[in-house]
Amino acid sequence: MCNHGDIRHFKLTKIAGAYWRGTKNAERLQRIYGTAWPTQEALTPISLAGRSEKRDHRELGPRLGLFSIEHEEGGSGFIYWLPKGAVLRRIIEDTLKDYLSAHGYDFVYTPHVARSVLWKTSGHLDYYRENMYPAMELESQEFLLKPMNCPGHILIYKNGLHSYRELPIRYAEFGTVYRFERSGVLHGLMRVRGFTQDDAHIFCRPDQVEAEVVDILKIITEILSMFGFKDYEVKLSTRPDKYSGTLEGWAHAEGALRKALETVGLPYTIDPGEGVFYGPKIDLKIKDSLGRQWQCSTVQVDFNNPERFHIHFRDDKGGETQVFMIHRALLGSLERFFGVLIEHYAGAFPLWLSPVQATVLPVSDKFMGYADDVLAELKKSGFRASVSSNSDKLGAKIREATMQKIPYMLVVGGREAETKTVAVRSRDGKDLGAMALSDLIARMKAEVSQKT
Ligand code: ZN
Repeated sequence: MCNHGDIRHFKLTKIAGAYWRGTKNAERLQRIYGTAWPTQEALTPISLAGRSEKRDHRELGPRLGLFSIEHEEGGSGFIYWLPKGAVLRRIIEDTLKDYLSAHGYDFVYTPHVARSVLWKTSGHLDYYRENMYPAMELESQEFLLKPMNCPGHILIYKNGLHSYRELPIRYAEFGTVYRFERSGVLHGLMRVRGFTQDDAHIFCRPDQVEAEVVDILKIITEILSMFGFKDYEVKLSTRPDKYSGTLEGWAHAEGALRKALETVGLPYTIDPGEGVFYGPKIDLKIKDSLGRQWQCSTVQVDFNNPERFHIHFRDDKGGETQVFMIHRALLGSLERFFGVLIEHYAGAFPLWLSPVQATVLPVSDKFMGYADDVLAELKKSGFRASVSSNSDKLGAKIREATMQKIPYMLVVGGREAETKTVAVRSRDGKDLGAMALSDLIARMKAEVSQKT
């Protein structure tokens, strides 16, 4: 807790209305936004708030054609990925899929709806109901939308008998889940009512936990740094007072998580007693370009579900041993990660992530033919490119492409058509001069492969 008297150097930035606890009929409150700094010097005119406002994904997302939200007919808190945003999502998903396949994960798909008896067994009905949507009744059976993917993956595991030799089994899914949030607490892509997790569940023997967590942590740091996040805060949360499972199991799992963090060399702090009742966990927060932290990856051992669902493996003595279950998400919610990514780059994504990587700008309609040839060449080389076909003046075309944060603008006129070149400008206003299209393509390919 901080003492108000300690806040000396601050700037109020905005006021807005809010409802107490996010409930519409509750009392209306005034929300005051501001930033506080340790010294007056640090409180510069270009304050964090000013910078973060320009990066607000709720403003940038619709303006850059990435996503839409708040459709009157669709309801609040549900995200519509527009074609350009969907390009980014596909790159994220493809990158993860390649990685996970190489690391021995199997991809599965599970239904969005299941009978309430499944959620009774998993404990969601008793402990998570207030976050779930109301039940639907069909042919005198009750069905519920899934708030988590775990029970679905357990049903797949239970589909057959598993020997100790088969383990670990790793099921991954981009699993869409639905959780009820009051309208007052919804916030852009960060707090929504339906989202997709890059989820996975690992079923393994006790002696495999450490190696599995080492592998997960390596994937996490490699993927996150690829997307531009190299600063993390890592926390290991240990056994709370109320817990399921055995003391022995907890000691084993906590030891495995700790050793895994040390093997990978990730600095971490321990949050004693802050584990979930069903097992210890590692949480990782990423720092964005403004130094703000976002909860992202999580790795959790679970003693509860294996017990509730009676999931076992056939051990080397022919007996049945309860399996160890690990839940893990690398990026967490794809929607939220998307929001963080937009704000981290202020919408100016690196070339490999940019929905449109280059746009051809003919100086007049006369050069449309050559512009189309350039576009065809770019597309043939695998780039996402467009051509500006309206009759605006060149200056207006450049302004529009800059607003859209397109990395490369290729201006073409008489001289370029004649010499088979393009005059290249970057989105930050640099004139890169005339170059042969093949040279630009080589440059862009190198940039994409370096992911810069
Ligand atoms: Zn899970």
